[in-house]
Amino acid sequence: MSKNYKIAVVPGDGIGKEIVPEGLRVINAVAEKHGFSIDTEEFAWGAGYYIENNEFMPENGLETLKNFDAVYFGSVGLPQVDDTLPAKDYTFKVRTGFNQYVNYRPVRTYPGVQRPLRSEKHIDFVIVRENTEGEFVQMGGQYLPDEANGMGIDTSVFTRKGIERVAHYAFKLAQKRRKKVTHITKSNTLINSLSYWDRVIAEVAQEYPDVEHEQMYIDNSTAMFVLKPEIFDVVLTTNLFGDILSDLGGAVMGSLGLGGSGNINPEKDFPSMFEPIHGSAPDIAGQNIANPYGQIWSAAIMLEHIGEAEAAKNIMDAIDKSTSEGALTVDLGGKASTSDVADAVIKNL
Ligand code: ATP
Ligand code: MG
Repeated sequence: MSKNYKIAVVPGDGIGKEIVPEGLRVINAVAEKHGFSIDTEEFAWGAGYYIENNEFMPENGLETLKNFDAVYFGSVGLPQVDDTLPAKDYTFKVRTGFNQYVNYRPVRTYPGVQRPLRSEKHIDFVIVRENTEGEFVQMGGQYLPDEANGMGIDTSVFTRKGIERVAHYAFKLAQKRRKKVTHITKSNTLINSLSYWDRVIAEVAQEYPDVEHEQMYIDNSTAMFVLKPEIFDVVLTTNLFGDILSDLGGAVMGSLGLGGSGNINPEKDFPSMFEPIHGSAPDIAGQNIANPYGQIWSAAIMLEHIGEAEAAKNIMDAIDKSTSEGALTVDLGGKASTSDVADAVIKNL
């Protein structure tokens, strides 16, 4: 009997509404070739939903998503919706509510895509970003007694459990790759939280003697991303640094539109969620020009996670073939539309 998977689809706002359907076309085409099927159910949540309902998703949203094998997500956000209202935010709720403590964000070069770096060396590494703690815990406050005086306080929280579990994920991942973990902090200035992070990671590293372990500071690492990106295999870092480094990773690839990602619950006790690294790009929405490669790559990461590794590999090979044949959107210097790119990938499966 052929396998069937239940996928929740949340296109979100802006270009999410355009690239998610293209990603789904690729998923259905690859499923047919590999003998499994996908049942999807779509949820129109996000900033548009907020305008009508004063929340990004219904109160029982997590309850609804809980029974799916995975969530295939575009991006949320519209210029007219204040996205500093985090308690209402969709992404934050799903990541924390489903214990998706690993944000898996690979960076690689695509054949035929011009990149900003002069080096022609092949780049292939993964940023493992801690996804539920650190600077994104949304604790703190603003104290504004009058116009002239005030302060804002954000607290970051790192727990032993939180650091250990993401570190184990990173070292295990490295064992399947080129066996190197570079962990990135700034413990020379964030002397409480990040020196603790360093200490716990160093302990975990001892359990993986076959994996080379290197430590780097965030400032130096941004320079290395540009000057010597080929030295990285698995980059393990905090929530905030990972957020910044993955945009830089997108730029190193040649466009933010190229990056795929997974918000992973490694124990699989809740569904994981797969989305491109970029936002909803309202500036280019509605024109069928958005780059869908990151969304399609996210589909491959999703299929690998749910147990369809061969289908995932098929998508990645088809992506490489498509970019090398010149199926490139405007951001990559080409003329292909969003749907042209998906057509090319499907043809190359
Ligand atoms: P977020 O806060 O959700 O991360 P953002 O404000 O960082 O969003 P993005 O939506 O990621 O912004 O867009 C940043 C820039 O990159 C915009 O100019 C946008 O047009 C461009 N961009 C992002 N994604 C794509 C894509 N898939 N294809 C082409 N251009 C893109
Ligand atoms: Mg951004």
